[in-house]
Amino acid sequence: MFLTAKEVYSGNLIIVNAAHPYHEEASKIRLRPVRREAPDILLEEHALLQLSGLMAEINGWEGIVPVSGWRSFEEQQNIFETSLQEDGEEFTRKFVALPGCSEHQTGLAIDLALKKEKVDFICPDFPYEGVCQRFRERAAAYGFIERYQEEKKRLTGIAKEPWHFRYVGRPHAQIMKEQGMCLEEYGAFLKQFPYGKRYYCWRDERMGEAQREEVQGGEQKGTRSKTRKEVRISYLAAEEDFCAGETEDYEQCEISGDNQSGFIITIIKNIK
Ligand SMILES: [Zn+2]
Repeated sequence: MFLTAKEVYSGNLIIVNAAHPYHEEASKIRLRPVRREAPDILLEEHALLQLSGLMAEINGWEGIVPVSGWRSFEEQQNIFETSLQEDGEEFTRKFVALPGCSEHQTGLAIDLALKKEKVDFICPDFPYEGVCQRFRERAAAYGFIERYQEEKKRLTGIAKEPWHFRYVGRPHAQIMKEQGMCLEEYGAFLKQFPYGKRYYCWRDERMGEAQREEVQGGEQKGTRSKTRKEVRISYLAAEEDFCAGETEDYEQCEISGDNQSGFIITIIKNIK
């Protein structure tokens, strides 16, 4: 697989904010309706698959409704202008991304609300309890992050939005949650791991448990799963040519642009 510089602008890990507008053409995203009952709310197909898995696990659609998924540039512009007129500039700058700079244009972001009669479109209610909190707690396991947190406002440029979730994929969402990093911080963090020289290593929890068992038993027990996964994450600056599969053995390799200057390379290896 050969990467071109243009591909920096696509993938699950692209950072879209006021400083980094979205470049990809909308026609390239494969969008699907989130729910049959709400055919206008669309999400990128892989993100939707994970969202559906999460909702099935927590029986989420019983108490949660989708509010807003993919938006075209024009739609974002309309929302921004309407909000300016109705709610004023201060509110709009706080909660509505500039047209061209909204994560909703990527198809990887969704706003969710607690199911009730009146749902606010810009600031839906998604409380830290009940089914909404269960969603929040399991989101990372399905590749979603709560994107806009109070303490990261300075970095994201958006005020706290407890209802806005962004798909970044696994295990990136889990790492960001464990390390308390927002997407901007995670992108910067990964630059310390240049592809081919260093990598950030992540192993899944089940593997940790199996290891502990072995230590406690004092001898090598038959492990529960023979193949364990190790994830190696590194960063490749866009000016370098890259052909995946040339130098390494791996089961799976995922590549995402960062929408800035390079690629995040995620290599999944089965280890014995
Ligand atoms: Zn949103």
